[in-house]
Amino acid sequence: MPSSKSLGEFELIQRFFTHPLRADSPVRLGVGDDCALLQPQPNSELAISSDMLVEGRHFLSTTDPVRLGHKALAVNLSDLAACGAKPIGLTLALALPRADEAWLAGFSQGLLRLAQAHGCELIGGDTTQGPLNICITVFGEIPLKDGRSQALLRSGARPGDDVYVSGTLGDARLALEVFRGTVQVPGPVFEAARTRLEQPTPRVALGQALRGVASAACDISDGLSGDLGHILQSSGVGATLDARQAIQLLGVQRYPVNARGVFDSQRALSLVLNGGDDYELVFTAPPQAAAAVAAAAQASATPVLKIGGIDAAPGLRLWDGDAAPQTLNATSFDHFK
Ligand code: ADP
Ligand code: MG
Repeated sequence: MPSSKSLGEFELIQRFFTHPLRADSPVRLGVGDDCALLQPQPNSELAISSDMLVEGRHFLSTTDPVRLGHKALAVNLSDLAACGAKPIGLTLALALPRADEAWLAGFSQGLLRLAQAHGCELIGGDTTQGPLNICITVFGEIPLKDGRSQALLRSGARPGDDVYVSGTLGDARLALEVFRGTVQVPGPVFEAARTRLEQPTPRVALGQALRGVASAACDISDGLSGDLGHILQSSGVGATLDARQAIQLLGVQRYPVNARGVFDSQRALSLVLNGGDDYELVFTAPPQAAAAVAAAAQASATPVLKIGGIDAAPGLRLWDGDAAPQTLNATSFDHFK
């Protein structure tokens, strides 16, 4: 199919999406030929993941293009992080309503800056005219150990394991609710929350540091209860979370302004459990790996918090230290719905 020719498809690719390869990159050939060529390290596995962002569904049409370029790649790098993979490269399939040079300059800047920070080369893609749609595929590598896979999977959680979460939760959802007009927060709180929504930090270094330490992992794109739910389902186990620990994950309470008063604890917990768009990691590890988890957190300069434990009984429960644990139903617990 013919593509948009206003700026010229090839000129557009040349100007905004072509950059010199790093000398030490496993990418042998990048943008410009029919295929890119990758040479992963010997004795390693390739990790591959795709994520599509559709205007109106995954981002607001008013989103700053620099931030959008960052986020489009960040959500993909977050999947590599969840598997413990080291990023190598990405392809970018882009449908654009028109070749808007200012938009393209911002978008490519946001994307390539994050790519460079993670040694992830843009190695190819496709460009066509159409409703704004961004599809990125990332490639990463995971070294084999004694010939065996070290990838972090959703299926490895076992009863007795601890449950951990990186960073903070709830900020992105908070910003979204402010945009929707359902909550009001002080300006500086909104700006901090908005940055977390529009420029999430993929936990790439933590994911790699957790190889051989975590028993299971998943990144949090849809909310803690749902994404931990994926681990529970794949592993055939359940979990009980300590509400007093989990509530400490709420990002907003760490902001340098007094924002706590905005939420009662039910709403705070709801943000933590059902927030979405946080791109943190939820992972499990046996109790004897606690020191190794702390070392991984320190080595990657990423805070992690233990919030509960894995049980043999299926289901997700929340315990506040007093009453009997309450069974969580991700949808019914959402106080924003
Ligand atoms: P083909 O016709 O073989 O599909 P294209 O004309 O679509 O190739 O693309 C030419 C080159 O530009 C290819 O190397 C392709 O991978 C690359 N490319 C196309 N669009 C993008 C993009 N948005 N970002 C990066 N590389 C791109
Ligand atoms: Mg093509």
